[in-house]
Amino acid sequence: MPDVGGFREAVVDLAAITTNVRALRELLGTEHFIAVVKANGYGHGAVQVAGAALAGGADWLGVATVDEALELREAGIDAPVVAWLHDPDESFDAAVAAGVSIGVSTIQQLRAVAAAAWRVARQASVQFKLDTGLSRNGLPRADWDEAFALADELERAGALHTAGIFTHLSNATLQDDVDCLDLFDDGLAGARAAGLTPELVHAAASAAALRQPDARYNCVRVGLALYGLAPSQRAADARALGLRPAMTVRGRVAHVKRVPVGTPVSYDYTYRTERDTTLALVPLGYGDGIPRAASNRGTVWIGGAVHRIAGRVAMDQFVVDVGDTDVAIGDQVVLFGDGAEGYPTAEDWAEASGTINWEIVTRVAGRTTRRYV
Ligand SMILES: *Cc1c(COP(=O)(O)O)cnc(C)c1O
Repeated sequence: MPDVGGFREAVVDLAAITTNVRALRELLGTEHFIAVVKANGYGHGAVQVAGAALAGGADWLGVATVDEALELREAGIDAPVVAWLHDPDESFDAAVAAGVSIGVSTIQQLRAVAAAAWRVARQASVQFKLDTGLSRNGLPRADWDEAFALADELERAGALHTAGIFTHLSNATLQDDVDCLDLFDDGLAGARAAGLTPELVHAAASAAALRQPDARYNCVRVGLALYGLAPSQRAADARALGLRPAMTVRGRVAHVKRVPVGTPVSYDYTYRTERDTTLALVPLGYGDGIPRAASNRGTVWIGGAVHRIAGRVAMDQFVVDVGDTDVAIGDQVVLFGDGAEGYPTAEDWAEASGTINWEIVTRVAGRTTRRYV
């Protein structure tokens, strides 16, 4: 029996993540490498991805929230980890006690981390997140000097250590990012002038790390690329860098029927067959993270060829018009995976649904079983 896989599953190739990190470390050449495993490792499983990334040479892990960092600790992962997006009521006690480095975006957070350090009797690690253009999280320029001076005071008192300073870029244009980096350099100089000695200086996520060597400093914060996906939204670009997509989403054909020309398909009858044809039912839908926006546009691999979705993607299922391809109930269907193997890619699905590959893999959830190979 060939391996046709499960009813609906995301197969995650952890060896691909390890080799991707190894390839990226070599290519980027920075002293430090933060593997970003937020949002459950972009849908791949945070704990498993963290282990695979560390095996490939990542020396730090990055997550959005303290809860995500603590989940890694609870799983026995004791590598350095930084978390940078916080609940306004976050006490930071558990994070400081667990040795999680705290990304600081407000002066109030800096005070809260110091208070936590005193309570749990452990020196806290902080990393300043500077807003240099994105206007999202991060300390605004006007607060930098005050924050650095306060951090110096708290360092002298023994409450904390400034382990890093970082910013996040827009990837709008190269010039926009250069402007942000110029401002970041001012911030870095200000921090040093205030007496801080951050070991980690980082600005680049996947896109800037790959296209802008100036943004690498001594550390990069890479998410997307370690999962084998290209920030350019061209799967071939990832392949050219030696990266391999780690996630394959697949299922098994749940129903097959031969229908005459003119047969309407799925909700709202947005598709009608243009000839006598075979319809195959795929048991994944938006309840599993498959975008409804890919209705009539997304493609899947069945029976050795790529076929298009016919009609609306529903909550649990969608239909594929496979023409005269010989397809049977129980056959394997691959929604996306490694394009080098002939499968549609996360980039293809992103294009079909008007989004980006980051979202395609991260939203795979719900009833989909995650299987590791
Ligand atoms: C998500 C995130 C990253 C990783 O971004 P990729 O584009 O997936 O590499 C890096 N830094 C910050 C602050 C992030 O929020």
